[in-house]
Amino acid sequence: MLTGRQISLNRADELKNTINDYLIARDGIPTGMSEDVRKQFEISKAVLLKHFGATEKDWNDFKWQLSNRITDVKTLSLILDLSEEEKKEIQSVGDKYRWAVSPYYACLLDPKDKYDPIRLLSIPASVELDNNSGDADPMGEEYTNPAGTITRRYPDRLIINTTNECAMYCRHCQRRRNIGENDTATHDKDILESIEYIRNNPEVRDVLLTGGDVLALSDSRLEWILAELRTIPHVEIIRIGSRTPVTMPQRITDDLVNMIKKYHPIYLNTHFNHPKEITPEAKAACEKLANNGIPVGNQAVLLNGINNNKFVMRLMNQELLKIRCRPYYIFHAKHVQGTEHFNTSVDDGLEIMEYLRGFTSGMAIPTYIVNAPKGQGKTPLMPQYMLSRGTDYVMIRTWEGKVIKYENHPTKNIREIY
Ligand SMILES: *Cc1c(COP(=O)(O)O)cnc(C)c1O
Repeated sequence: MLTGRQISLNRADELKNTINDYLIARDGIPTGMSEDVRKQFEISKAVLLKHFGATEKDWNDFKWQLSNRITDVKTLSLILDLSEEEKKEIQSVGDKYRWAVSPYYACLLDPKDKYDPIRLLSIPASVELDNNSGDADPMGEEYTNPAGTITRRYPDRLIINTTNECAMYCRHCQRRRNIGENDTATHDKDILESIEYIRNNPEVRDVLLTGGDVLALSDSRLEWILAELRTIPHVEIIRIGSRTPVTMPQRITDDLVNMIKKYHPIYLNTHFNHPKEITPEAKAACEKLANNGIPVGNQAVLLNGINNNKFVMRLMNQELLKIRCRPYYIFHAKHVQGTEHFNTSVDDGLEIMEYLRGFTSGMAIPTYIVNAPKGQGKTPLMPQYMLSRGTDYVMIRTWEGKVIKYENHPTKNIREIY
């Protein structure tokens, strides 16, 4: 007869074996904290500081980062090995779809690897021009705009678009059509019209500020919007959408968080797509937000060649918890013109979800979302855990694949039994 302890030890061994494959794979995935990535970062940073004649103080100033975004092939080629053909490619794609990379984010580039996730995420490639089967506006945002720059798709919450500017223009951007060639903050009149709409619709209790990147706005402009929203009693929570913790973490200053926290409760959702983006700088930014009562969530996009891998996603979500950023969504990539090379099958997403639940902390598990076409809403997809049902039972499957019959009786009226 085995004792309880012996049974537990056997089970513990079994559990260890279920993550050996992950532990081996993990060592091969670069993160923003790994020595190699850091070494290259410092080399590229020195090159760029010299090129711009800038100081460490400049580097840590987001205004310097924003106004020195790399937008030309000549500067880019100082830190990225590009063939003549690739240089022409970047130029001609850039004519159609704008690009810009903050010096900080550019230092994460691997100079030699064509399939470096950072390169795929930020540098134009000729495939963007190859097919044009996607939609310019797959979300039908044009038809869900009741006022100002609002997008309203749900009963109790909506989006205000505040700017089209970003610290880095993601190659997979779903709002490419709005990016244009020039940075334009939304006009005061449109912001005020959006706020008036919210004031007049008392069921709106959750307002998302998005763009572009909301934190491309100045502190004073953002404060103006937050203060206006806080004059509306039925606005319960405000959410800021910003990729700056990833692409320009210098933006998260003491001044910014001290301003934001006057308007609590405020949440911030950001957009990490790969563990390589989780750097000491990104960590400092997320921690500063969290320390000031601004919970940070992550909305990743499932992207071919970048993160459509169960181990990359598991590692990323675990690394995010370490910097106090809570995984919130994994979005299935939409069919947007010029980004179709990033599309994956839904099966890739389901496989990732299958190998999160049970294998890692529930805290590290986001919801996998497919956006129904034409703005019909976020739709969660999950592997099947309920296999079938009878009148008084359901058949369930555990994370390890054990199939179990689970009793299921109608709920009794509490007042009749208690
Ligand atoms: C995604 C989205 C929201 C927020 O949805 P949550 O599931 O609450 O995060 C709100 N409005 C629009 C138009 C959206 O696209």
